[in-house]
Amino acid sequence: MTASAFGTFFLPGPTEVRPEILAAMQRPLISHRGPEFEAVYAHCDEGLRRVFRTTRPVFISSSSATGLMEAAIRNAPAGPVLSLVNGAFSARFADIARACGRVVEALEAPYGEVVALERVESALRARRFAAVTAAHSETSTGAAQDVQAIAELAHANGAFSLIDSVSGMGGMPVETDAWALDFVLTGSQKALALPPGLAFCCASERYLAAAAEAPARGRYFDIVEFAHYAAKHQTPNTPAVSLFYALEAQMAAIGPTGMECRWARHAAMAATTHAWVEHQRPSGRVTGILAPAGSRSNTVTVVKTADDVDARRVVDALAERGYVVGGGYGKLAASSFRIGHMGDQSVATITNLLDALVETLAAR
Ligand SMILES: *Cc1c(COP(=O)(O)O)cnc(C)c1O
Repeated sequence: MTASAFGTFFLPGPTEVRPEILAAMQRPLISHRGPEFEAVYAHCDEGLRRVFRTTRPVFISSSSATGLMEAAIRNAPAGPVLSLVNGAFSARFADIARACGRVVEALEAPYGEVVALERVESALRARRFAAVTAAHSETSTGAAQDVQAIAELAHANGAFSLIDSVSGMGGMPVETDAWALDFVLTGSQKALALPPGLAFCCASERYLAAAAEAPARGRYFDIVEFAHYAAKHQTPNTPAVSLFYALEAQMAAIGPTGMECRWARHAAMAATTHAWVEHQRPSGRVTGILAPAGSRSNTVTVVKTADDVDARRVVDALAERGYVVGGGYGKLAASSFRIGHMGDQSVATITNLLDALVETLAAR
């Protein structure tokens, strides 16, 4: 198999994009202030509402997901921010809040783990926070947080819930309306299997009302502007039109009833990967999964390697076979690798990868 064959790219973002979706981007460009674009926008919005499980508009930003993390903070009401930090991306959320001038209290958990809800509750009771930030699926460690419970705790204590579901949305259940998430965001290049360059978010009515009073919203990520233009099926500035074509095609492919199916496929890919690790443990080459059972993401698994197996070599050797997986994050680079089992991959393509991994581990 070569690296260009579909189903060999297993990074935890960007993920593999189907040829039909790439082809959709070749349509001629159009003005973003005309009816043709508005129709494309409407299809995208309609599809994204189904992905987000919301009746509210989903805003489409021509930026990477980090841009909307910044938007989440900038548009939130003044006051301190409680950040749940259990890996690189949730740490980034806290850093963004600090960079935007917020006082941040960080609740940290070791890599692989999640922040215990009791800790969140006592922190929220001890002090009044404007907002709580959390990563739904922490892509650097493969841990999944119970964002529904976090949102409930935030509400009960008068704070807004700001949720990064960049590697969760599209691959794991997210119920924006039912869980009353105030601001939930994702990016195009993870479980939605689109090229990088777009980011999507949904803001609750009360968040949006508060945003109108937020003093330092800036310009590019002003959510009030997004809402104003979204009502006309437009964007505040020039959008990445070609990427909208890809989004439109992917939303059509997922269809009106596709989410349960998509979630089930991701759960099956995760289960296949987890079972494989268990099965491989006796070989002495892999030692387990970083995140404990019960709080694992369905889209990414961090596999720990034995002391005498340099995970970086495994990643390189696998690449020679045409399979691309992610290296372990930061200090975990030598002792783990990350398998992205998300987007448009399937149990069949994951099984091919895992077979190649067996050979790679045996050959070292
Ligand atoms: C990839 C990722 C991000 C950052 O997304 P960009 O599109 O690179 O800005 C943020 N949070 C999580 C959980 C991610 O997986």
